[in-house]
Amino acid sequence: MAMNLPIFTSRGLAPPNRELRERRLIDAYGRTIRDLRLSVTDRCNFRCTYCMEPDVRFLRKVELLTVPEMVRVARLCVGLGVEKIRLTGGEPTVYQHLDDLIAELAKLPIKDLAMTTNGSLMDDARAREWKRLGLRRLTLSLDTLRPDRFAAITRSKTPPETVIDAIRKAKDAGLDPVRVNAVIVRNWNDDEIVDLVDLAREIGFEMRFIEYMPLDSARAWDRDKLVSAEEILRTIRTRHELTPIGRDGKSGTSLNHAFADGAPGGVGIIASVTRIFCGQCSRLRITADGQVRPCLFSNNEFDVRVLLRGGASDEQIEDFLLDSVWTKQAQHGINDAGFEQPDRPMSAIGG
Ligand code: SAM
Ligand code: SF4
Repeated sequence: MAMNLPIFTSRGLAPPNRELRERRLIDAYGRTIRDLRLSVTDRCNFRCTYCMEPDVRFLRKVELLTVPEMVRVARLCVGLGVEKIRLTGGEPTVYQHLDDLIAELAKLPIKDLAMTTNGSLMDDARAREWKRLGLRRLTLSLDTLRPDRFAAITRSKTPPETVIDAIRKAKDAGLDPVRVNAVIVRNWNDDEIVDLVDLAREIGFEMRFIEYMPLDSARAWDRDKLVSAEEILRTIRTRHELTPIGRDGKSGTSLNHAFADGAPGGVGIIASVTRIFCGQCSRLRITADGQVRPCLFSNNEFDVRVLLRGGASDEQIEDFLLDSVWTKQAQHGINDAGFEQPDRPMSAIGG
């Protein structure tokens, strides 16, 4: 069965030079893939304005990969060089079989197993159970500390205190380090940057500010709403002195900073738009319905579910993954004149 070649012929892409290629996930620009973002569901109990419209249509259950399918494809990726796996979504904690998935993935020979969550459905027992099953790190999302704003941004009834509690619980459970993401959007929450940093100093976590990206299902992104890394850092420095400490490894997304006064926690900036880090990218995404996306902004997706359900051998799936990764685009192209937002919003890709 020649399952790999149609990717290239049907999409007018140059096929990889198999003679030169090693059996590891590497793209045509020489970037090695070590990080897998696995979206476990596209569903969510929130409808964050920068991510999902209230009337979003979700995938049908039958379209979602099962736990054995996710574990198989993750295992094959690990065999091809993946060292870290992050579970995401949608909201991974609404996924019914999350614990089974964590337990199975934790058995793979990887260096790291992490998850990103909105933190609204977490309690002590869940955090401790995830840790026991093998989850190492947790990233939570918190864009505002103000209840009215939190309700407006997430379109939920969850108060921000629930997420703040979840941050403390994750730390208490030994998930380490705990990080918190905030997407900063002009005139929504750009006046809370310092308040969020103060919370990070008080509790002791790394606060990660993410530049707003054109991945919202409403397609309402525009450059005027973007608050740049430079502006975020300038704002923080009006109150706290920061010491740059570089990225986490060569391909880390975040520009990390410690507090110069030695306070616990820190600040990270994910400057996806203004300081692009595509040249060092080591990431590969697989959506909840089994589409391999070499880039967050890919317009090409590769359907591994068909192979998983069609009796393909491990070797055939590996070839398919190798071919898919080879097509990874040079960069996301947000700043290019002809940029087109991908059809899938963030929630259906996996952030
Ligand atoms: N539901 C989980 C959560 O919110 O943490 C995990 C999935 S969410 C898609 C992953 C991350 O993507 C979140 O931290 C969220 O803030 C971020 N995100 C969503 N839409 C975004 C956008 N348009 N630009 C930048 N970041 C975005
Ligand atoms: Fe849900 Fe996360 Fe998207 Fe918010 S950012 S709607 S919590 S998937």
